[in-house]
Amino acid sequence: MKFGIFGGSFDPVHIGHIQLALACRDQVPLDTVCFIPAAQQPLKQEGPYASDDDRLAMLELAIGGIQQMVISRIEIERSGVSYTIDTLRTIAQTQPQDELFLLLGSDALADFPSWRQIKKIIQMATPIIVIRSGGAEINWNVLADWMPKQRIEQLRQLSIHMPPVDVSSTEIRRRISLGQSINGLVPPAVAEYITQHGLYSDRIHRE
Ligand code: ATP
Repeated sequence: MKFGIFGGSFDPVHIGHIQLALACRDQVPLDTVCFIPAAQQPLKQEGPYASDDDRLAMLELAIGGIQQMVISRIEIERSGVSYTIDTLRTIAQTQPQDELFLLLGSDALADFPSWRQIKKIIQMATPIIVIRSGGAEINWNVLADWMPKQRIEQLRQLSIHMPPVDVSSTEIRRRISLGQSINGLVPPAVAEYITQHGLYSDRIHRE
């Protein structure tokens, strides 16, 4: 089975995340896309702002009914800083028969070299870089210190294109704190959950 691992804060999950997952599922194609919310992202100084339970509940609402998508609590249950290498090791152990893929937005590629044990990561899983059409040029050279040119060329060929979805969790939190609409930026059930639970209304998100 081709098993895609999609990590992030998902604070909250939004339609950009869903579109990325769909593009990978359909274009790679993958048998399963597994959303893995981080307990604490190594490269983010702040957050997550919503609780683990709320982020998981919103993910469940967002992907409910979408084929071949699942959620893993592995990083939340492990708690502490969520290093991808630890997650990959566990998945490789529990699913030795699966071929692993790591789904990454092209913005995440820029940070890739600062990930812990990057060399090991790219041995254990094939990175699928998702490029937003019309977006900024991808700097593939960031990978040059970590892999031979041939492998970079392979990854370039494996990369997936998706239409740009101009949304981020930061922008959603900012809008909510200002009382602005988030219609169309998250699935309706997620918007409803955010309202019902009064998430992201603090002033901190306005800055
Ligand atoms: P924040 O604004 O809080 O930093 P975010 O919206 O960037 O959050 P993350 O949960 O940090 O979301 O992102 C997880 C993954 O989703 C990353 O690989 C990122 O590149 C990708 N991603 C985020 N927003 C989009 C989008 N609009 N379209 C496609 N991919 C996205």
